[in-house]
Amino acid sequence: MSQSHFLPFALPDITDAEIQAVSDVLRSGWVTTGPKTKEFEETFGKTIGAPHTIMLNSCTAALHLALESLGVGPGDEVLVPTITFASTANVVRHLGATPVLVDVRTHDHNIDPEAVERAMTPRTKVIIPVYFAGVPCDMDELSALAKKRDVKIVADSAHCFPGTYKGRNLGELADITCFSFYATKTITTGEGGAVATADEKLAQRMRIMSLHGISKDAWKRYTAEGSWYYEILAPGYKYNMTDTAAALGLVQLSRNNDMLQKRLAMAQRYRDAFVDWPIECLAPENDRTNAQHLFVIRLKKNALKIDRQLFIQELKSRQIGTSVHFIPLHIHPYYRDTYGYRPNDLPVAWDVYQRMVSLPLYSKMTDTDVERVIREIREICEKFLN
Ligand SMILES: *Cc1c(COP(=O)(O)O)cnc(C)c1O
Repeated sequence: MSQSHFLPFALPDITDAEIQAVSDVLRSGWVTTGPKTKEFEETFGKTIGAPHTIMLNSCTAALHLALESLGVGPGDEVLVPTITFASTANVVRHLGATPVLVDVRTHDHNIDPEAVERAMTPRTKVIIPVYFAGVPCDMDELSALAKKRDVKIVADSAHCFPGTYKGRNLGELADITCFSFYATKTITTGEGGAVATADEKLAQRMRIMSLHGISKDAWKRYTAEGSWYYEILAPGYKYNMTDTAAALGLVQLSRNNDMLQKRLAMAQRYRDAFVDWPIECLAPENDRTNAQHLFVIRLKKNALKIDRQLFIQELKSRQIGTSVHFIPLHIHPYYRDTYGYRPNDLPVAWDVYQRMVSLPLYSKMTDTDVERVIREIREICEKFLN
């Protein structure tokens, strides 16, 4: 039954190598944006196959800069899946535009291209597919819809690194792609993010806006080849990454495949274990790879005597942490009240929301931890089977 220690829902996987790399930066005398950030941009950019990559302090900043560079503003509509984190839609509001929330597909919780098509209007400016749990969306279908109407695609790849879609790399799937290195994501810099694009003009705009709208990288100003002179070209933001974060990120990047393989193996173990239980797992197409950032299950309707909330409480009383990704945006007070959504306006999201639970899945977990989660879930199912 219940074990002595609490198994957290998520933990970063930090080794001595990361601690050493950060210490080296702290001792170097240069802690903010500098050579480590540049190196991280180059190495990460190569890994995702993007010609231009800018390191930032969050994925939220990346999303904001991406939309700003595309000229999103008042009167524009941006299509956002309702199952996502706050930032995906909040940044649309920061620019005074209207987020139009769109339903997802049952089997992978990714934005539904048919729902996108129905939601498109002459005001639609951008679609933001979210690669939910680490799986790229239907990018061919979305790109076809976008091209027809001169709409741009900004991918929210906060969950998805590394990843591919039909053999193409993450940097090649959208006009702009945004990544997160938040503490719980597949690689972390504590707080951090990146924005990537193949478009040089967009990259230039995002780079300038990421640091006060100043025409030169600040760090160049203070090195031997730099000068004191700079120009403010626009009222930009303060979104740069620090070299301490980048040093951490570079080591994480070098370990990313190792961490991925561990998550994939654990996810397979979960899937195999739940086959005969009243639990559904997500089932993405196999023309794309899975970064397996999250392991989301859904309780089968009417199969259990308890609902999702009690299921989570049962796991908690057995010392197992869980989460829910995500409370759909359209039922949050701000979006619900501002735009008048009712829960069933986006019926797939509303249905899966009431049944879904995210299980612990991270490379620091041991096989024993995974078996413990499986055992406790089986016990709960047996106890409450209808
Ligand atoms: C975590 C997350 C973000 C925000 O990332 P930050 O780096 O914390 O700003 C955006 N979108 C999704 C889907 C996320 O899960």
